[in-house]
Amino acid sequence: MKEFEPQLVYIEPGALEYPLGRELKEKFEKKGVEIRETTSHNQVRNIPGKNELQQYRNAKSTLVIGVRKTLKFDTSKPSAEYALPLATGCMGHCHYCYLQTTLGNKPYIRTYVNLEDIFEATDKYIKEREPEITRFEAACTSDVVGLDHLTHSLKKTIEHIGQTDLGRLRFVTKYHHVDHLLDAKHNGNTRFRFSVNSDHVIKHFEPGTSSFLERIEAAGKVAKADYPLGFIVAPLILHENWKEGYYDLFERLEAILPAYAKKDLTFELIQHRFTKTAKNIIQKRYPKSKLEMNEEERKYKWGRYGRGKYVYKDEQAGELKETIQTYIDRFFPEAKMEYFT
Ligand code: SF4
Repeated sequence: MKEFEPQLVYIEPGALEYPLGRELKEKFEKKGVEIRETTSHNQVRNIPGKNELQQYRNAKSTLVIGVRKTLKFDTSKPSAEYALPLATGCMGHCHYCYLQTTLGNKPYIRTYVNLEDIFEATDKYIKEREPEITRFEAACTSDVVGLDHLTHSLKKTIEHIGQTDLGRLRFVTKYHHVDHLLDAKHNGNTRFRFSVNSDHVIKHFEPGTSSFLERIEAAGKVAKADYPLGFIVAPLILHENWKEGYYDLFERLEAILPAYAKKDLTFELIQHRFTKTAKNIIQKRYPKSKLEMNEEERKYKWGRYGRGKYVYKDEQAGELKETIQTYIDRFFPEAKMEYFT
């Protein structure tokens, strides 16, 4: 998988007031990428394409350089107290990705250059919770690693959190472009997680992301650089021969990972879920997708604000959880399973 290079760049004039904004403008000018101006990163218009589908695909290779004005970091993720918004949107084409719904008709990739403001807000959140640890999730609205070779904003965030006593950072990625992050002064405050899955899921539902092997090799490098390491196995899908598929995943993971990467490992497990809105969008954008989304075979789980999701029925979810737990116990007896949701 090659590193992401945008085909088109938009810049908010305000972004040029920040060093990173100016640096990025210069970088893309040198590369000869078309740069356009946009009044706001929330309202980018005229992304090329004859129809919605083409515009969607082009949006995924469009980078918008903007200023993050909302500095409220709320999240409903089980893995952290707050989100840390460095970017929104992703170049990947995972069929099941929830960003398709949450970003609606704005699937373009936004990167925020006002890191100074973002770090100030981060410090305030940490202070408020003293003496408790405060965890920030940097991958709530994007796969930041996939973008960071261009911006280095994740690297700066890792180093910023590294300087704190009580701040912790985590993010998850399906990209292997980690080399520039290996010498970041993380001080053990950042947990680097890779998203992994069975061959079946990666092959059928995760176009535009790094291969399993690339991800695992990157995980080895990250562990060598002394980052706490973790894996998110998500979405867990009950595809044909799923038991063998997931067994094979853990077996290969164990075989490839170097010994030093196996200490202090965490696993997070998330079963596949979808909403009616998501289903409609996925069917439009990936019409040939084999992703199973049959409401009748699922359980409806009520969520916040009355917006529910379809998850697996209790019995199936139970079997899924137990099976994966057995594999983790077998191949990684010292690892910690943080949650299954
Ligand atoms: S890599 Fe992650 S954020 Fe990007 S499309 Fe896939 S699931 Fe979504």
